[in-house]
Amino acid sequence: MSNTIIINRKKHTSILADHRVDPVTKKLLKVGDEVCVCAVCKTVYLHEVWENTKRGQCCKQTKTLAYIPNTEYGKKEIPTVITKSYINHFIVSTLIALLFFSLTIYWYSTYNSEHIQKETAYLEVFSLKQENQKTQNYIQNLVDKNSDLQDLIESNKTIIVSNISFQQDNKAYGSKIYSNVKYVYPRITYLSPLYYEKELKFKIKIFKPDGTLMLGTSSPMGYSYIYKGRINTNKRSYKYLFLNGWGNKNGNAYEKGIYTFELWLDEKRLHSTKFQVH
Ligand SMILES: [Zn+2]
Repeated sequence: MSNTIIINRKKHTSILADHRVDPVTKKLLKVGDEVCVCAVCKTVYLHEVWENTKRGQCCKQTKTLAYIPNTEYGKKEIPTVITKSYINHFIVSTLIALLFFSLTIYWYSTYNSEHIQKETAYLEVFSLKQENQKTQNYIQNLVDKNSDLQDLIESNKTIIVSNISFQQDNKAYGSKIYSNVKYVYPRITYLSPLYYEKELKFKIKIFKPDGTLMLGTSSPMGYSYIYKGRINTNKRSYKYLFLNGWGNKNGNAYEKGIYTFELWLDEKRLHSTKFQVH
């Protein structure tokens, strides 16, 4: 099959400018003519001449070009208008791509900053909730203490004992006490409604596992021992009062079993608790 080309006003400007003619019929080549180009000598024939007169052959061969070469420069005709249009296309596409790229970056940074703002706001709300919970706990704590103080005032007491724990010799309060203990030291946790420090004279009763009162040579009538201690007056917090120990230096005052400890003040029992000797 031969390549045929239709002459175009824009593509084939040099052919038209040269007033090129068909070499057989001497007809002027014009826009819209269907032509064939010999692949060797580059002669441009009208299609009908190539088919009928030349019988599809020139320079002893049948090959035709798919384009009309620019004879002046011996290379393919490059239409300048179309080249410009491609450059324009390239510039416009590049501009659109740049615009799209910038918009994407703008959108991403906006989205990111909004996202960060939301996250920060969420963290702030969470932290405020925590603060609120802490405040509520603190208020509840104050209310509890206040009700303890209210009880104290109503009962006209100078001290309210919330807990008593025990220590074997110099070990930790609350740890196990063994029968080789020399002295058992009580520690009182208390609140006081007083507005001034005051020395109070506590009396202590310690009952053995069999229920008999522990007594020593210096025991007052009806009690194991006496302890004089100064009471602090900080109404807002519980305080400790560390009592003298009870026992002897030989470590044979206690046997295994459960002991009852009673704290007395002004002939009234303030608190009663038990401790175990292992
Ligand atoms: Zn030829």
